[in-house]
Amino acid sequence: MELEQVLSCLAKGARQAVEADATAVCLLDEDGHHLTIAAVCGAETERRPSEPVAVSDSPLDREALGGHPAIVTDSRSDPRAARAPGDFCSILCVGLVYDGAPIGTLHAYASDPRRFDEEDAAHLAALADLGAMTVTATRAVLALETLDASKGQFIRVATHELRSPITVAQSLVRGVVGGYVGEMTERQADVFGRISRRLDFLESLVNDLLDLAAGKSPELAEEEGPTLLNAAVGRAVLLFQPRAEEKGLGIRLQPCRDQLIVWGTEGGLDRIFTNLISNAVKYTPSGGSVTVTVRKTDGQAQVEVADTGIGIPEKALPHLFEEFYRAPNAKALDEVGTGLGLAIVKALVERYGGRIEVASEVGKGSLFTVTFPVVER
Ligand code: ADP
Repeated sequence: MELEQVLSCLAKGARQAVEADATAVCLLDEDGHHLTIAAVCGAETERRPSEPVAVSDSPLDREALGGHPAIVTDSRSDPRAARAPGDFCSILCVGLVYDGAPIGTLHAYASDPRRFDEEDAAHLAALADLGAMTVTATRAVLALETLDASKGQFIRVATHELRSPITVAQSLVRGVVGGYVGEMTERQADVFGRISRRLDFLESLVNDLLDLAAGKSPELAEEEGPTLLNAAVGRAVLLFQPRAEEKGLGIRLQPCRDQLIVWGTEGGLDRIFTNLISNAVKYTPSGGSVTVTVRKTDGQAQVEVADTGIGIPEKALPHLFEEFYRAPNAKALDEVGTGLGLAIVKALVERYGGRIEVASEVGKGSLFTVTFPVVER
């Protein structure tokens, strides 16, 4: 939920909880000395000024923030209520505190005198605790989302700038390795071979980082629409056939008779299946097999990528979709990997309303299952 919705729910919930005529949620400013009304419920509260009020000028808020609910039975004779909104005789004010840190106050108002008692104060305080926790959690999520967005933007710019010098360096080194600039000693060839492999890794890292940032980028949403699933899976299998044959692996596609349409983009679906099939081929030793199955099940589209490869240790499974994570048995192989492929796959699958699951046993193989809602024509 957005912060505004959370605050408005809190104001409404508070009004119901103590049967108040009106309620207001006030939040402390960053300086911790001023309160600003963030949400109200009940028409009369509209009269309340919305500019920040100094806590030092508001005895009721001061009491509530100090951990003591403040009950005013009749504002006309209670000097603490001098700044309270006009027509309300009864006022109840409790603090919004999370983990010992005050974040604001919750006010309940009623027109009649003596409407709130200690029991109401306890009710409102319990709701305020829950409210403070929710507000704090929502603020934390918003802060993380903002950070994630700036991280994505930084990655997009930085990797974009890195890509062309890497490509240039790579083609120059390939020229040297290919003997186009003259003969090399065995030792020189070995060093240049290693530089070339490092550049290959850098290139895949830059491409994966760009894909990851793109997968999370909201700008892409406009290009999304109903997309053919079978075609994307077929393309990915075809793409890896030569590599599988070269490695001595069997690669098989078990297609689906139904034409399955899912939400997404061709590019996005290609990324999902090329990543999964590339992993299956990469992590399956010679003599093994990779089977890709497309089916419709319970009205949903399902793609399975199964291999008879090295498998994934049980301890690694919960981390598999984290950015940069690579399982120890994969790292031990002489295969290039960035640990970003599955993070890209998961972000895209979820973006298109689907989910991804994995089952695996070390030494026996892995099974990745992607399920999408079917888009009806
Ligand atoms: P990488 O670039 O390392 O392949 P991924 O994000 O694609 O990164 O995968 C993360 C990790 O998940 C891999 O490093 C590997 O440990 C494990 N993994 C993924 N697919 C398979 C598979 N088919 N078989 C075994 N391990 C796999």
